[in-house]
Amino acid sequence: MLTVRNLRVRYGRSVTALHGVDLDVPGDGVLAVLGTNGAGKSTLLRAISGTLRLHRGSVLAGTVHYGSARTDGLDPAEIVRLGVVGVPEGRQIFGRMTVAENLRAGGVAARSAADRAAAGQRVHALFPVLADRASQKAGLLSGGEQQMLAIGRALMSGPKLLLLDEPSLGLAPKMVERIGETIREIHAQGTAVVLVEQNAAMALEVADRAVVLNVGTVAASGPSAEIADHVHHHYLGVP
Ligand code: ATP
Repeated sequence: MLTVRNLRVRYGRSVTALHGVDLDVPGDGVLAVLGTNGAGKSTLLRAISGTLRLHRGSVLAGTVHYGSARTDGLDPAEIVRLGVVGVPEGRQIFGRMTVAENLRAGGVAARSAADRAAAGQRVHALFPVLADRASQKAGLLSGGEQQMLAIGRALMSGPKLLLLDEPSLGLAPKMVERIGETIREIHAQGTAVVLVEQNAAMALEVADRAVVLNVGTVAASGPSAEIADHVHHHYLGVP
């Protein structure tokens, strides 16, 4: 269970990205985080994964707990060891390394060689193309394949909670659908997910609950079906 309470984040003196966000993600949940550009979605994920501290001048207040562990203030690596693993926006795979090397890099956080082998099998079952392309340079993969690799790399450390930042960004509709199905499958295998998306349609199909961020505050939260109505009404002008 992830619990975020009164989370406030500033970048330097002038930008306040989050103004007191509360949210809960049950151990078996998929939460979609929706919102327009600059709403604070990536900042929220950075605060949860611990990577916010890599951003100069950032200041965090409030609390983040994963289970009984308080995680705000921990290093990203410590948070990964607790089972919370992020896939950042823009994928950030190692383009000059092979697909296999990228996956191996994700596996260094695995608890044991047996866990690593099991995670590798899981990734190849989810994404057979990554086995086919094992010795190819990651930078030569298509955008969709790179996204699969980024998710696969995160799965190599055996996460209990996966944080996905706009996995559909820049992908063709067919590939977006495929990524959506994959997220559902990852969840069915027992991994909770926080899914940040501008593609509300895909995210609401995959998630059981959703929150809408609007300039750093939670504008709405609830079951996906309710939030779908909210999104239609407020953002698409449908009554
Ligand atoms: P996007 O979809 O465009 O990534 P977002 O909802 O993820 O948007 P954030 O990236 O979290 O939003 O940004 C929230 C606010 O914080 C924005 O006003 C943004 O300009 C600002 N911001 C984000 N990162 C930094 C940073 N490293 N330094 C200063 N300001 C930042």
